[in-house]
Amino acid sequence: MESPKKARLVVFSAKQYDRFFFDIAASESHGTLYEIEYLDFALCSETAPLARGYDAVCVFVNDTLDKDTLEILYANGVRAILLRCAGFNHVDLVAAGELGLFVAHVPAYSPEAVAEFVIALVQTLNRKTHRAFNRVREGNFNIEGLIGTTLNGKTVGIVGIGRIGLATARIFNGFGCKMLAYDVNENPDFARYGTFVGLERLLAESDIISLHCPLTDSTRHLIKTETLSKMKPGALLVNTSRGGLIDSTAVLESLKSHHLGGLALDVYEAERGLFYTDHSGKIIDDDVLMRLLTFPNVLICSHQGFFTKEALTEIAHVTFANLSDFIERRPCPRSLVAAGHIDSSVRVEPVRL
Ligand code: NAD
Repeated sequence: MESPKKARLVVFSAKQYDRFFFDIAASESHGTLYEIEYLDFALCSETAPLARGYDAVCVFVNDTLDKDTLEILYANGVRAILLRCAGFNHVDLVAAGELGLFVAHVPAYSPEAVAEFVIALVQTLNRKTHRAFNRVREGNFNIEGLIGTTLNGKTVGIVGIGRIGLATARIFNGFGCKMLAYDVNENPDFARYGTFVGLERLLAESDIISLHCPLTDSTRHLIKTETLSKMKPGALLVNTSRGGLIDSTAVLESLKSHHLGGLALDVYEAERGLFYTDHSGKIIDDDVLMRLLTFPNVLICSHQGFFTKEALTEIAHVTFANLSDFIERRPCPRSLVAAGHIDSSVRVEPVRL
């Protein structure tokens, strides 16, 4: 008897670690249903024709899924978009719905991975362990200039108490911090850690502000000149959510004027084309980013909050579960768009890439 035709999946922006965890997950569970091809470059309208002959594409945070790209994918036979990330601000869901594409994501692979990374960023900046590491390796055991602050008793404000925000609140609460949160939907689970307040009060009272809301039209440049001016002088700002939440130029000015006390970024609004790639030895023409890197009180990482073995394992398994749901025409609990309809729980705002 002829074996059923396997579905064909092409994974864009694939790094070695993606292949490693995807191949393990495929062999463990759903490998008989599909064939996988890996491409190491990003999906965009120029590269979309290369998906010809594939049923599904798998993409990450800096792939482009605007209307043009989705139309090219559809014209080339692609019917499913599998996001191996939680955020979907880079996908034109309306266009996907009109084309009848299936779109699914991995809503929660490891909130703790990102929350723990927030603490790593805060404590590196605060206690200056990155500078101490370099000094000691040079034989310099002087601790002058490495003074930090004790977190116990400080006020931490979380913007967006979803999965990651809540995990972050739990950890800071463990340090003995006073917790404040601002969210458009007040999750009652936060009550055991702290108090919901308005954004203005959170900005005014917090020693540390950590952003965990999604990037939408209403949150774009949530942190700008006006909101920065409302922050407590010397406050530390952390963004592990999406770069577009912060107006980087405004933040730069606030740092220069010594109002903002520190900045820890895992995401950056112009990260596409830069993050996840080695640019050493090349000229980087982003003057804002390069100026930010000169400050001793700025720490920038290239979107790696999620990057743990546990999270990558979960991402691979859930992505294949999404693909299996699509192939076998089962309802998928993680679909954003299915059978031409955007899931009613998804807040769709226009895509600006
Ligand atoms: P979530 O959907 O569980 O929570 C988001 C929260 O933000 C919700 O409670 C929502 O009500 C709230 N929110 C929405 N609009 C808001 C607004 N205007 N003001 C205040 N709050 C608002 O999402 P999550 O899983 O906690 O992820 C949070 C963010 O982290 C997402 O943007 C996601 O893309 C990003 N993320 C980053 C990494 C990384 O590696 N750095 C990894 C995973 C997720």
